[in-house]
Amino acid sequence: MNTMTGKAPAAQTTTNSCGELAPERIIQQQFKRAEQHLSGLDSGLLEVLLPARRTITVNIPVELDDGQIRTFVGYRVLHNRLLGPGKGGIRFHPDVSLSEVSALAALMTWKCALLRIPFGGAKGGIACSPKQLSQRELRRVTRRFVSELGDNIGPYTDIPAPDLYTDSQTMAWIYDTYDALHPGENNLPVVTGKPMAMGGSEGRSEATGRGAVLAAERLLSLGAVPQLSSLDGARVAIQGYGEVGRVAARLLHERGASVIAVSDSRGGVLASNGDRLDLDQLNAQKAETGTLVGVAETRTITNADLLALDCDLLIPAALGGQIHAGNAQAVNARVIVEGANRPVTPEADDILTKRGILVLPDILANAGGVTVSYYEWVQNIEHHSWPLEDINGRLRARINNATDRVVARWRAFASDQDNGERCTDLRTAALVEALERLTSVLEQRGVWP
Ligand code: NAD
Repeated sequence: MNTMTGKAPAAQTTTNSCGELAPERIIQQQFKRAEQHLSGLDSGLLEVLLPARRTITVNIPVELDDGQIRTFVGYRVLHNRLLGPGKGGIRFHPDVSLSEVSALAALMTWKCALLRIPFGGAKGGIACSPKQLSQRELRRVTRRFVSELGDNIGPYTDIPAPDLYTDSQTMAWIYDTYDALHPGENNLPVVTGKPMAMGGSEGRSEATGRGAVLAAERLLSLGAVPQLSSLDGARVAIQGYGEVGRVAARLLHERGASVIAVSDSRGGVLASNGDRLDLDQLNAQKAETGTLVGVAETRTITNADLLALDCDLLIPAALGGQIHAGNAQAVNARVIVEGANRPVTPEADDILTKRGILVLPDILANAGGVTVSYYEWVQNIEHHSWPLEDINGRLRARINNATDRVVARWRAFASDQDNGERCTDLRTAALVEALERLTSVLEQRGVWP
């Protein structure tokens, strides 16, 4: 039985062509590991928390600039609304699938529960190659997607946000389309990550990268990694140089860390003197040529090289499934900070845990984005805007609080003599923390009717 969809899984969806588990199955495995620590709870209650409440698949016919008609497939999965309206990004990528979107929607439920944000989990995406579409074509794809979703999104039901290859412009089109279909209402809270001039929040575009750095900083300050108590002097490698990776790199340098290597979809660079990269030069070249490769005083490396670099922190901030059974042995970092969603597979988790490498899990490490999305939503409802210092202060407090709870629980597992062989990684600790909140609310609300 596939508990994510309620259907028997087709054999071919269990693993991909490399033998790795499909995203939905990975989420199930993570859930099962955490479930072992929630003894005493009705198993029926736990089963309510795993499957998605609703999955929507839409066909999106669009006229391209040359007059041809192409149909794209889009998805929106509402995983859970126990704590509040569904919340989750929309991504445009050729690899978007229902399995991937379902897995990401479940992660959003757990992330919001862990951060104590009053949202449920959702996710959406369109299988397309955004780099091959013009801005006008992307606008038509976005508008048609939103119109096909109709009232399945809304300010109090399901609220999209940016994700891979979508940005504030995409969110502006989502808002504009929804607003055209629902005139006369305050529709700003229907989507977050909007441009500043139309209800966006200070600090939102930086929030995920900032949250990752804050969570890592707090983890180190709590003494979780021997002989590494601060970011000052830490050597860092970052995979993915988009909204998350670029901001994380800058904030790390501000805190005295050295980002020694970064990569994007076109390849990576390592500082040739083994020191810190010059981020200004890197940004200027990327803006001018679209690639990081070839910046002065750097050596070109592959993504595989980057993941194996000897460093203190490795931040995967690109795609899922990047650190897997085939390369986890090669990882040479002390801590992995999951800027991306599910970049480490369960097999890799086991290998890394045995090797003493900590993984700061996605539902904590990249929760800064949904946290400031929540602040944007509140500001839109209040017709008000908060100053940047206020937003960043609130973000820091919330990330610190969640990190403290996760580390305390992880330490309690480690000292629990009865824990035996049960998993004692930070991911399981974070998920147990989230699931406890969800189950307590489920018990209080009860199952309707
Ligand atoms: P983005 O589109 O701004 O950047 C993605 C980056 O990854 C780009 O630099 C791209 O070149 C690079 N990339 C793509 N394929 C790659 C590959 N095979 N190898 C190396 N690099 C590759 O996206 P983003 O908003 O920075 O999101 C990155 C990750 O963080 C995603 O997994 C997303 O789900 C997750 N995330 C983002 C947010 C957010 O608020 N933006 C919030 C939570 C999680």
